Amino acid sequence: MRFMLLNFSNPEIIFALESVSQASKLVAEVPAEVAGLSLTKNDRSPVTVADLGAQAIVAALLSEHFPQDALVAEENSAVFQTPEGKAALERVTGYVCRWRPNTSPAQVIQWIDRGTAEPKNRFWTLDPIDGTKGFLRGGQYAVALALIENGEVKIGVLVCPRLREGTLAIAVKGQGSWQTPLQKRDAFLPMAVSSRKEPSEAIMLRSFENSHTDTARTEKWTEQLSIKTKPVLMDSLAKYALLAAGDADIQARFPFPESGHQGEWVWDLAAGAILVEEAGGKVTDLGGKKLDYAQGRRLSANRGILATNGHLHSACLLALKS
Ligand code: AMP
Ligand code: MG
Repeated sequence: MRFMLLNFSNPEIIFALESVSQASKLVAEVPAEVAGLSLTKNDRSPVTVADLGAQAIVAALLSEHFPQDALVAEENSAVFQTPEGKAALERVTGYVCRWRPNTSPAQVIQWIDRGTAEPKNRFWTLDPIDGTKGFLRGGQYAVALALIENGEVKIGVLVCPRLREGTLAIAVKGQGSWQTPLQKRDAFLPMAVSSRKEPSEAIMLRSFENSHTDTARTEKWTEQLSIKTKPVLMDSLAKYALLAAGDADIQARFPFPESGHQGEWVWDLAAGAILVEEAGGKVTDLGGKKLDYAQGRRLSANRGILATNGHLHSACLLALKS
């Protein structure tokens, strides 16, 4: 049975599945009115008690399972410095204490700031809530964790609590992509991309937020490909879970030309990319270049993202060149 290909006794796989599961339970326990008291970061994006609590939980477990490993994660404790931030730290500590009784606020800060590490030969990368705007709006979001070694993604795990009945997905290099309903954590089945080869029939996924991808550029490209159906708008790496499951065929991100975009954050991509690749798909930048995870906290050697079922990849790249 293909199921046997995934080695559930591997310590990295055990840690990855356990930590995102715990983190997503914490996120689910934060009621909307508490999450809605979101703080604003320097880049003006929102962060909630749930993002910060989830990052603390994963960092704490990493310190126990792999104390030497670096964590490269989205959040840091700078948001706690304002008066609202101080109140948020109290709340985050309260949620963390549900899993780790008697944790102090200082310990929470230390765990969260474990995520400020610079990438090394081997590191974990975490987006505690990818798609925070979707999370707050009632749309899709994901807890995303990946292991990167020597510039290559080895393991990727995604929890998408609002995808179908709740989805837990894992990809391991050379061992495929697997998903299970979140409530039945041991019913993993293999994932496979779609077999669609005709661009005009393709189902395209796009960010829900218009400010996250150049939609005008995307629409022009969609016309060039003669895609008939409207794109499916969705927040977060849940898009990659759909692509890996064969429920959609193409996903792209176009940086805005004027934005001085420095490349994707590694945590915004790694877990989704390996999920698509191990399910048989292909992920490159918009020039067809292999993604290079050895550049730091961002994929600064790549521009934009193209993820497809593989069959449609060269047609997509060709339409981009013209
Ligand atoms: P999405 O789920 O497709 O809306 O993308 C969400 C992620 O996109 C967030 O985690 C942000 O880090 C990232 N993001 C937001 N704005 C941009 C932008 N203009 N270009 C590239 N990435 C962005
Ligand atoms: Mg993100």
